[in-house]
Amino acid sequence: MISVENVSFDYVDVDGNSKSALKNISLEIHDGEFFAILGTNGSGKSTLAKLFNALLIPTSGKILVDGIDTKLEDELWKIRQRVGMVFQNPDNQIIAAIVEDDVAFGCENLGIDPLEIRRRVDESLESVKMLEFKNFAPHKLSGGQKQRVAIAGVLAMKTRAIVFDEPTAMLDPIGRSEVLETIRKLNSQGITVILITHFMEETITADRILILNRGEIARIETPREIFSDATSIRNFGLELPFAVEIANRLRKKIKIPRNILTESELVEALKI
Ligand code: ADP
Ligand code: MG
Repeated sequence: MISVENVSFDYVDVDGNSKSALKNISLEIHDGEFFAILGTNGSGKSTLAKLFNALLIPTSGKILVDGIDTKLEDELWKIRQRVGMVFQNPDNQIIAAIVEDDVAFGCENLGIDPLEIRRRVDESLESVKMLEFKNFAPHKLSGGQKQRVAIAGVLAMKTRAIVFDEPTAMLDPIGRSEVLETIRKLNSQGITVILITHFMEETITADRILILNRGEIARIETPREIFSDATSIRNFGLELPFAVEIANRLRKKIKIPRNILTESELVEALKI
């Protein structure tokens, strides 16, 4: 659904100095996929996210969304109707004073019929389990609730893919698990999910993980493949998921299978 072909991106400052953020990236994200992106600060994750829905345009190479080149200015709305974005800070994404007006905002910009908008707003709020808060003022909500309102706003536009750029980074553990559960549910309903995160745990159910390192692709593999190589994970400045870390430590003392990824697999391996 999204195809990235030999893409490089340079930021150019006011003095005309350019700084390379992404170098020669090629990848394909499939319809319905759960695609996770990992990498240390400054590795280019947010830059790539913004290229996916034409907030940025490649310096060289091209990005196709359903075959539509993101550089075509006339097609911008078609791209935004296909790929939505949810950012780290919910406070920067919520605009209206009432939850339901906020969720309607993106649809209103697309010129959708008001009756249809009403229907979509209720359906989207229901889907993120926030319908009962529809008449609330957003500032009365917790961080996790606000982030789910932001997600509802994107859902109401019925985009096929949603890019989440560190959506849980500012949340407490409860908010984080509510948002992650929402993301997984949407993916199970067929929405393509691109999740940028620095929590390794959030990526273990992904179909594939991309590791970015200094603006370049270091790896694109399944979570099991990625986390089986502890040395390279550390070399990229990342950590191992909890169960993998524990399994690796225990393996020095007792016999434990090699390919543990999840907590339930670890528990199973420890049963005598
Ligand atoms: P990440 O999201 O992985 O932390 P970013 O995509 O934000 O990485 O940044 C990649 C590189 O581009 C970094 O070196 C960063 O300093 C630089 N960069 C990001 N945004 C800008 C900007 N607006 N102007 C100049 N350089 C930027
Ligand atoms: Mg970032």
